[in-house]
Amino acid sequence: LEEQIRSLQSSTPRKYAKVKYLNYKNRKRILITGGAGFVGSHLVDNLMVQGHEVIVVDNFFTGRKRNVEHWLGHENFELIHHDIVNPLFIEIDEIYHLASPASPPHYMYNPVKTIKTNTMGTINVLGLAKRVMAKVLIASTSEVYGDPTVHPQPETYWGHVNPIGPRACYDEGKRVSETLSYAYAKQEKVQVRVARIFNTYGPRMHMNDGRVVSNFILQALRNETITVYGNGKQTRSFQYVSDLVDGMIALMASNYTQPVNLGNPVEQTIGEFAEIIKQLVGGPSVIKQSKAMEDDPQRRKPDITRARQFLHWEPKVPLETGLQRTISYFRNELARSDRFQES
Ligand code: NAD
Ligand code: UDP
Ligand code: UDP
Repeated sequence: LEEQIRSLQSSTPRKYAKVKYLNYKNRKRILITGGAGFVGSHLVDNLMVQGHEVIVVDNFFTGRKRNVEHWLGHENFELIHHDIVNPLFIEIDEIYHLASPASPPHYMYNPVKTIKTNTMGTINVLGLAKRVMAKVLIASTSEVYGDPTVHPQPETYWGHVNPIGPRACYDEGKRVSETLSYAYAKQEKVQVRVARIFNTYGPRMHMNDGRVVSNFILQALRNETITVYGNGKQTRSFQYVSDLVDGMIALMASNYTQPVNLGNPVEQTIGEFAEIIKQLVGGPSVIKQSKAMEDDPQRRKPDITRARQFLHWEPKVPLETGLQRTISYFRNELARSDRFQES
């Protein structure tokens, strides 16, 4: 036994990506709810490399330990398995509140839970922020605009949401989340920042989340039919995940307290998007139209005047570059899942 213990003491420590050294005055303790998810894990990487202490709270509904495994055991990193619908008592300086399923099939899987996460979960986060006087950034969404009647969408637009449709659990959940944030700001003097995030893609997004980016890339990589829902004339604007993360960090650091759109204003129809992916992946896939989604927003494009003016932020990564990185991630993931099936 003694020998085994001695060998543990002399074993080489794990290698991590290099993190900056910050003295205690500049180093913050930052909580990221939903930090094991797609966007959250990229935010973790950025804040860790900057030298902060990062605490991730996640219930692993759609998140995965694998997204943050490269930080497990690092002295600045902590991963807590916790459902944000239940109260949480920790000491932190800042909170990025991302916990919520995000893709339509995920948030429609258990609509009641989606509502609880975005209402009770947000109350807990704001209650925690109030107690420890932390600044909070809420990850809201372009879905607060619903199927918009104004194009592109500025933050002053109040939205066009069906309160009882299949998307309502998410849309209305996020709208309440925003309302709660401003109520806590006014009544309890909590410092809140609200990011209205538009469609985001990149490595670590879920392979099977049913969203357009993952569906089209997987279909093209597997030489399957690329499924366009409806006539393909509906539009979206896609932002690469590192641009979003830069925007969220800039918003947290700013003094601007009104909601801010974070998205890429380059818009395309879903039909065009299918063509772009087919061409980038190559292969024989054919593009076919199938049944339209209920309440599918017909046009979506962010007006990012506010983000430009108050955060000096705008997206940098062109669609093709971002898609190439995402395609290569998906290719690796497919090879990995094939290896699992073989073994
Ligand atoms: P994701 O599903 O990858 O991440 C969400 C994370 O929250 C997951 O790790 C999940 O396990 C966790 N979670 C869910 N419910 C929880 C609960 N009750 N308690 C604790 N953890 C919980 O999704 P994402 O794309 O990374 O989205 C992150 C945030 O950004 C979400 O709030 C989402 O609404 C918002 N957003 C994302 C997009 C996008 O295009 N990706 C667009 C608009 C808004
Ligand atoms: N809360 C929490 N962590 C804290 C402080 C509060 O999870 O550190 C929860 C608390 O359990 C409550 C919610 O946040 O359910 C709202 O807190 P607040 O103080 O606003 O309300 P109250 O406790 O007065 O109901
Ligand atoms: N879509 C599609 N084929 C798919 C998946 C999605 O045509 O396989 C369409 C969907 O109808 C919507 C757009 O692509 O118009 C974006 O869908 P997604 O679920 O990615 O995100 P949303 O912006 O609707 O939340």
